[in-house]
Amino acid sequence: MSVQIDAKPGLDIETRLFIGGDFVDSVEGARIPVTNPHDNSILAEVSEARPADIDRAVEAARKAFPVWSRMGAAERGRLLAKLADAIEADSENLARLETVDTGHPIRDTRGLDAPRTVATFRYFAGLADKVDGRIAQVEPGFFNYITREPVGVVGQIVPWNFPLMFTSWKLGPALAAGNTVVMKPAELTPLTTLRVAQLIARVGIPAGVVNIVPGYGNVAGQYLAEHPGVDKIAFTGSTLTGRKIVQASAGNLKRVQLELGGKGANIVFEDAILEAAVNGSAFGIFHNQGQACIAGSRLLLHEKIADQFLERFVALAKSIRIGNPLDQTTEMGPLTSTGHRERVLRYIEVAKEQGSSIFTGGKVPADSALQAGCYIEPTVVTANPGDRICQEEVFGPFVSITRFKDEAEAIRIANSTEYGLGGGLWTRDLQRGHRVASAIRSGMVWVNTYKRVSPTSPFGGVGMSGYGRDLGPESLHEYTYPKSVMMNIDAQVPPYYKR
Ligand code: NAD
Repeated sequence: MSVQIDAKPGLDIETRLFIGGDFVDSVEGARIPVTNPHDNSILAEVSEARPADIDRAVEAARKAFPVWSRMGAAERGRLLAKLADAIEADSENLARLETVDTGHPIRDTRGLDAPRTVATFRYFAGLADKVDGRIAQVEPGFFNYITREPVGVVGQIVPWNFPLMFTSWKLGPALAAGNTVVMKPAELTPLTTLRVAQLIARVGIPAGVVNIVPGYGNVAGQYLAEHPGVDKIAFTGSTLTGRKIVQASAGNLKRVQLELGGKGANIVFEDAILEAAVNGSAFGIFHNQGQACIAGSRLLLHEKIADQFLERFVALAKSIRIGNPLDQTTEMGPLTSTGHRERVLRYIEVAKEQGSSIFTGGKVPADSALQAGCYIEPTVVTANPGDRICQEEVFGPFVSITRFKDEAEAIRIANSTEYGLGGGLWTRDLQRGHRVASAIRSGMVWVNTYKRVSPTSPFGGVGMSGYGRDLGPESLHEYTYPKSVMMNIDAQVPPYYKR
């Protein structure tokens, strides 16, 4: 079918489920409408996976597992590299599709999401034949080696904020390590994942190694998480859903990896290079309309520089160009859905009720061209560390400002939420940089930068932000288990039962 991605003729993309190497309709014929958050027009209808479809997908992945896991690791790497090349060649289509489906500005989907997806697949292509085991020192006469075995059939459930990038974060390590996959994209944003499925089919990755099943969370997602034929669930999404996944996984005690919410503290010390801190902090919260688990949504400012910082930061927030995300000059697009915009607007009401002052934003932009879409102005408000808006993830272009007196207070505030995903600080003092980085309880810390992610570096959190890691060599351990093989080479073992 054809999807209209701008005024030009549409792009042919598949909207059916990808199971066992073929695009197929769902058994019940159900479909999900997919909207463009710029104007809430319908972009496409995709097949909706229900339990019978998930059963088929798990069966296909199970059948493909011996083929893929026993294929030479270098050959798996070669196929992943081919997929990276195919994604690179299709980058413009993928970037445009991602933009109309998520609202993410085209300058980012072109400049960040598409190239990062390619780089991540390339990274895991290179890692495929480096999943090494070890030899353990054991008693003389015995030989013990430890291999890393693929976990098996992996269910992957991902959210709507960076769907294209998540194909590489999730499929990359799982496939490199020899697993087969059933991936459920978010019901709101399945288009680029289905496009990647088309490319997977083209590059010669065997049928059933990857299966893509768009569907609703409480139906397809829940069923996949409960499925006895699935050996592991890798989940990215909200903490609330993460808990449900853990409960659903209990039936067959499948392995679970959780990348959940965050409430990143971004600390600006009095000796920071102000210009860099203002720019980096604005990117940290407003990029992708703040719909990022690692957004720097709590800005902590040293009292000595707070006014100076805010003058520049608020001016910058006011100047952000909001508009149709397909326009190359747009810096902020719409939020990804109407429902989510309502949620963010409710948090703005909560802020007002709790006595926050609003420096800028807090409402829908006045521009008549944006009224049909899911837009919100970049919003900057004051808050106290215990306020709801400093404790709960808002996931929008919404940042709270809290002043602090000294380093100890900044660390205390930074660590005062149940989350522990990412956090950062701005300072010229090298010692302080290390000291505070060590004191922040989170999986990632940025110093004099924010939200910088690399395929080579582990991504994930602690506490209510979940457990396990995407990216980096660490992610390969998430998708393998150690197997210890103990051999008697020439040990003379006296019989245990002396007869
Ligand atoms: P969500 O938890 O509602 O949905 C995420 C995915 O889970 C979707 O595919 C959804 O269909 C599915 N799902 C929903 N209910 C389910 C259930 N009962 N069983 C199984 N699957 C179910 O989250 P969202 O609103 O789509 O995404 C935003 C959240 O994702 C935020 O909390 C954000 O912080 C988090 N996130 C985390 C990371 C990270 O790496 N830590 C990255 C991006 C987003």
